[in-house]
Amino acid sequence: MVEIKHMCKWYGEFSALHDINLTVAEGERVVVCGPSGSGKSTMIRCINQLEAHQKGTILVDGVEVKPGMKNIELIRREVGMVFQSFNLFPHMTILDNLILGPMRNRGASKAEATELAMGYLERVHIAGQAGKYPPQLSGGQQQRVAIARALCMKPKIMLFDEPTSALDPEMIAGVLDVMIELAEEGMTMICVTHEMGFARKVADRVVFMDEGEIIEIAEPQEFFSNP
Ligand code: ADP
Ligand code: ADP
Repeated sequence: MVEIKHMCKWYGEFSALHDINLTVAEGERVVVCGPSGSGKSTMIRCINQLEAHQKGTILVDGVEVKPGMKNIELIRREVGMVFQSFNLFPHMTILDNLILGPMRNRGASKAEATELAMGYLERVHIAGQAGKYPPQLSGGQQQRVAIARALCMKPKIMLFDEPTSALDPEMIAGVLDVMIELAEEGMTMICVTHEMGFARKVADRVVFMDEGEIIEIAEPQEFFSNP
């Protein structure tokens, strides 16, 4: 589903990623961890070209993703992304956040889009809040809306960039539960997270990064038994 080969990225002189090699199969759940500044976020942002890499290749579902490519919007439909900060439009209702951008652009009628959106809001246990505005919701609720919004695109893979790091502790479990449900449904996922309980529970593999390199790729059991 995703194949990264010999990928390198610099910010000016600074080498942010060096010789990244990672293959993620359909249905696989990969957790990426490592110290702050090690390149985790940059690596996953290259997959949908929110950041441009300079060397190496990235394939998403067999299509090469590269800087300046014309049909990047098609790739971004296949690759759903959830950020640390939820990035919802504050002046639109929850429902409109789901239906006004992504789905209408795909040519769905308003009625179709509404029905689909409500289905996804139910899946993340937030359908009761559909008429409210993002600032009226807790951080955990907003993050679940952000997950529903990404799912509306019917992505083939979901990228999560520290989705619980900005949340109050009591909000984290609800977001992780939704992510665990997605994992159990077979969604291909790459998750940058410090939530090691989540990693233990759902990860097929854990990728450990440091200073722009992948230092280790291991199965969770192996990984957590290391001293
Ligand atoms: P992580 O997600 O592991 O915390 P990042 O991928 O965000 O790490 O960042 C990796 C490194 O690249 C860090 O040293 C960071 O300071 C640097 N970096 C990230 N974005 C930029 C940018 N836009 N310009 C310059 N340096 C950046
Ligand atoms: P992080 O979760 O790594 O802290 P943020 O959520 O703060 O990252 O977003 C980082 C940057 O990505 C912001 O500058 C934001 O404008 C940009 N961004 C967020 N969503 C999108 C998107 N769908 N398309 C393009 N850029 C985006």
